[in-house]
Amino acid sequence: MLKQMENAGLTDLHFGLDPASGLKAIIAIHSTARGAAIGGCRFIHYAREQDAVTDALRLARGMSYKAALAGLPHGGGKTVIIKPEGDFDRRALMQAFGRFVDQLGGRYITAMDSGTEVSDMDTIATTTDFVSCTSASGDPAPHTALGIFAGIQAAVRHKLQRDSIAGLSVAIQGLGHVGHAIAQHLYKAGAHLLVADIDPARVRQCVEEFGAEAVSPDSIYGVQADIFSPCGLGAVLSQDSIAKLQCSIVAGSANNQLANDEDGNRLHQRGILYVPDYVINAGGLIHVAMHRTGASAAERDAKILEIGATLEHLFTEAERRDMPVHHVADLHAEQMLADAGHTQPADKERHHA
Ligand code: NAD
Repeated sequence: MLKQMENAGLTDLHFGLDPASGLKAIIAIHSTARGAAIGGCRFIHYAREQDAVTDALRLARGMSYKAALAGLPHGGGKTVIIKPEGDFDRRALMQAFGRFVDQLGGRYITAMDSGTEVSDMDTIATTTDFVSCTSASGDPAPHTALGIFAGIQAAVRHKLQRDSIAGLSVAIQGLGHVGHAIAQHLYKAGAHLLVADIDPARVRQCVEEFGAEAVSPDSIYGVQADIFSPCGLGAVLSQDSIAKLQCSIVAGSANNQLANDEDGNRLHQRGILYVPDYVINAGGLIHVAMHRTGASAAERDAKILEIGATLEHLFTEAERRDMPVHHVADLHAEQMLADAGHTQPADKERHHA
């Protein structure tokens, strides 16, 4: 276990049990060098306890990288709560989790992730202050979309040497909370949209609202478009899908878009500019983190729009060093963490939330 922690670059790992409510939680903290660790709380079933620990371990570091490149005074952490089999009292369990988070005295601030809802965050807030994504802070998706839009503009400036999105075509995969909001930004900017979702109602809505062209979920990778924007699931950029792409830029909100690190290199070799997911999709995190500190909407939006400037810097450096942008992003994040006093093992693996 300690070796696994070392490989994941973590500073501490906490196990919380509350037999009365059935809580079995693991909080992995990667770094507090830049400030309190922040990161989502997963609440799903796991076949084996070890799988839950592995999930927490592998996702914590990505949150440190994301917070660092977003310029937030936070480190990264992740919680996994093993969802009980059968009946349980969700409210009692979340309150027990809040007490567990509270015991860490602010080293870790929890947030929403797969399987948790805003209502859970509200419940957790009854037993700790170290929680974000409550109903008071609102849906992060529009803020994530604003950051994605700024990131797409930066990528277009760099790769296509154009200041305007007008007339460009964008293929969007996934039209949920974020995908729909991105479609709206792009439509207003004059882009032509090609859209796919497994839910036909979401496709119809974009066709009606934005004059988008409907594409089947299977064909979205291969459509001719300037930009491919993955806003549905993770791990969609694989050897197979990359071979089909007919775009110059990949820039979307989905977490963990690369099936593995080698797929980022494949995109680079194909001359496709891959905008690292954890940099471009940080708008929601910026929103929830700055909401906690009482920042104004204008201050928050200015910070979200800085995602564009950060990316332009990374693109330029990647070009100068002839390196894939995702590697340059990792190196920057690691340097920022090291500058703040975080030490990392030399043989660490790269994983992002
Ligand atoms: P969502 O659940 O609201 O939307 C996802 C959409 O993708 C749904 O409409 C779903 O039907 C569609 N989808 C699923 N599989 C698909 C497939 N194979 N082909 C086409 N469409 C498919 O989620 P969201 O909040 O919009 O988030 C989208 C992605 O962005 C997720 O990966 C999420 O982790 C990531 N993300 C979201 C935020 C945020 O603020 N919500 C922040 C950072 C990252």
